[in-house]
Amino acid sequence: MALFVQITKRSLCSGFRALSTLPHPAATEGRQSRGFWFELNDTQKELQELARKFSREEIVVKAAEYDRTMEYPWDIMKKAWELGLSNCHIPQHCGGLELSCFDECLIAEEVAYGCTAIATAMGASNLGQAPLVAAGSKEQQKKFLGRLVEEPLVAAYAVTEPGAGSDVNGVRTRAEKKGDEYIINGQKMWITNGGVASWYFVLARTNPDPKCPASKAFTGFIVDRDTPGLTPGRKELNMGQRCSDTRGITFEDVRVPKENVLLAEGAGFKIAMAVFDKTRPPVAAGAVGLAQRALDEAKKYSLERKTFGVPIANHQAVSFMLADMAIGIETSRLAWMRAAWETDQGRRNTYYASIAKAQAGDVANKCATDAVQIFGGNGFNTEYPVEKLCRDAKIYQIYEGTAQIQRHIISRELLEKAK
Ligand SMILES: Cc1cc2nc3c(=O)[nH]c(=O)nc-3n(C[C@H](O)[C@H](O)[C@H](O)COP(=O)(O)OP(=O)(O)OC[C@H]3O[C@@H](n4cnc5c(N)ncnc54)[C@H](O)[C@@H]3O)c2cc1C
Repeated sequence: MALFVQITKRSLCSGFRALSTLPHPAATEGRQSRGFWFELNDTQKELQELARKFSREEIVVKAAEYDRTMEYPWDIMKKAWELGLSNCHIPQHCGGLELSCFDECLIAEEVAYGCTAIATAMGASNLGQAPLVAAGSKEQQKKFLGRLVEEPLVAAYAVTEPGAGSDVNGVRTRAEKKGDEYIINGQKMWITNGGVASWYFVLARTNPDPKCPASKAFTGFIVDRDTPGLTPGRKELNMGQRCSDTRGITFEDVRVPKENVLLAEGAGFKIAMAVFDKTRPPVAAGAVGLAQRALDEAKKYSLERKTFGVPIANHQAVSFMLADMAIGIETSRLAWMRAAWETDQGRRNTYYASIAKAQAGDVANKCATDAVQIFGGNGFNTEYPVEKLCRDAKIYQIYEGTAQIQRHIISRELLEKAK
């Protein structure tokens, strides 16, 4: 973690965690605060630069090959770990950097610019860790998060099932208490890092009464990969983000010690849902990274490709597409910044996190499809980078809450306030 540790130690010493907690320069000079401030601090600029360099030099050049082979990008994951660009939110008492959500987003956007499959592999590990960061005891955190600091390993978040995605209350995996253990039986589906994780956050039903409210019926467990009875399925062949590892996982009489329960029996649903306030902003930032890549590729191509004697960028129909891409990207970036900033202030950011996720997911898809359009026939071909962007973008409207579920949350928040 050498390089980033240096940067971060400086940032921690100066008390900076994020743009959000940065004392405004005017305030430190004893002058009246000027209010809103759009600049990153020096530490954040260095962090962004480090992530950008890593992405451009290590990821961009290998992304197409990983997409073709669909192999898990272990070499890149290990380098990211060495630089301190992964597991950024792990608390300091476990040896982590305990970065803010804002700083995590800065990294996520840059990594996603290079390849969103790799950003997803890193982000899904953070998602798996998030319940432990939020609700784990110090001992649990030290044991499981500390492991990820010591070695370049990853975690996974196992909530979705074949019959329950948006409707988490439909989770059927059950955990039964027997003595000092819980016995877990069931089937999870679409678990990112499912075949490569060192451990999983698993949501299971502990109260069999169908009338029991979701807020009391489920329990969150940390389950070690090598626990007997836990079997990852085949790697799924997805439309995009192909080197990310997505699998079903079967649990057959998986015995988990009661020490691995997060918070308490019955607290799992709230834990599993609450983490999205912290993880949706980085997902949105990843979508912005993809959209920015689409714009950059389209810009470059439109200046090189000529039709009717002029670069296609000279045709207003093309340049306006670029302008619309820029509008979407700038507004989505502001949206993830607001969402991350709110949670870093210690405020409930559910509304902003859903806006950021919904907006950035839609914009990534529009930008990727418009980039293909600007490339014409070449855009439809795997020799050019935008075809992959188009396939990779779609998942941003599906995982961590679909585009429809985000709108459901946003409207619920709006209407609750109105009432
Ligand atoms: C590549 C990939 C990686 C994933 N990684 C993980 C992971 O690491 N961990 C994990 O736990 N899960 C993961 N998921 C699962 C993902 O979060 C779910 O697929 C997603 O939440 C949608 O659930 P579903 O697929 O069951 O769709 P459904 O819930 O069946 O939804 C189907 C459609 O109906 C719509 N819909 C559903 N309910 C409503 C409603 N109330 N109002 C309006 N529209 C509605 C949805 O928006 C969608 O369009 C992953 C999925 C994929 C494809």
